[in-house]
Amino acid sequence: MVSREMIQQYVGIFKSMARADVLFKQSGAVAIISTGSTSINGTVVVQSFNAYKLNIPETLPKVSMAAEDCQKIKRLIKSGHPVELELNIQGKISPETKGYNVVGEITGTDPKLKSQLVMLGGHLDSWSAATGATDNAAGCIVMLEAVRLLDSLHLKPKRTIRIALWSGEEQGLLGSFNYAKIHFMDNGKVKPEQAKVSAYYNLDNGTGKIRGIYTQNNETIKPIFEQWFVPFHDMGAAAVTTKNTGSTDHLSFDWAGIPGFQFVQDPIDYETRTHHSNQDNYDHLQIDDLKQAAIIVASFVYQSSVRPALLPRKPLVVEPFAFDGF
Ligand SMILES: [Zn+2]
Repeated sequence: MVSREMIQQYVGIFKSMARADVLFKQSGAVAIISTGSTSINGTVVVQSFNAYKLNIPETLPKVSMAAEDCQKIKRLIKSGHPVELELNIQGKISPETKGYNVVGEITGTDPKLKSQLVMLGGHLDSWSAATGATDNAAGCIVMLEAVRLLDSLHLKPKRTIRIALWSGEEQGLLGSFNYAKIHFMDNGKVKPEQAKVSAYYNLDNGTGKIRGIYTQNNETIKPIFEQWFVPFHDMGAAAVTTKNTGSTDHLSFDWAGIPGFQFVQDPIDYETRTHHSNQDNYDHLQIDDLKQAAIIVASFVYQSSVRPALLPRKPLVVEPFAFDGF
């Protein structure tokens, strides 16, 4: 769960970053070159934490550089050698800022329960330095494959299964959050569809196998999920933690009072190599791990769709959520 304090903290950080850009520009800078401790050995991390609005003043172009090159520049400057850089930046700002979610369904078969939903998804958008294979084509592949498995097995889910592939996740969960506002809750007012979604399952932590699930402090759901993992113990998936995890689209559902979950995954080289970097390409996908994940997701979605009751919920706490750009 994202607390109000955490949001305020992040808003403060982002505002200072935006202010720093303005000050750099005023002081005569023409671009900002950044690097980081993971931009080494051929990996360059490319990301920005600032959401963008068309009505804010344009600031400086930003360039990501490998740490080794940055260190060399620093050493040259320190030893009194002038450093000249030529940057060829072809970026442009598009006035079209609308994003689009992709949504599909398998209609439920029970006359009474088919108006209820089980949802699953991941985000389609990615960063620019590579094709976004692990962040988050991996999650989209798994969710699509889970739906294909359910469809091809003709399992006849009782509730309707709805897959959603979100846009704008990297700018602040914009696609899923807006979906939640349109369908489930806006301005603290809960809408009728909110009561009809049993659960939302999300995958967005790279290519690794599913090892468990975070329940986001939902204690009552723990024994249910533990039971659902039993057939997958021999595939290495069993952990049900009541802990929270953040930074992805299940939070939009959690915010709206709908059980929303991200699975626990093997980290592989997600944080150390591929996340938001020029290495986030197809070669870093572990296809067998993705197959394992798709099987488990399909099972959880199916179990949710045929269970007599909706999954148990936490009490809804109406809190402001997410930042809306600056
Ligand atoms: Zn992601």
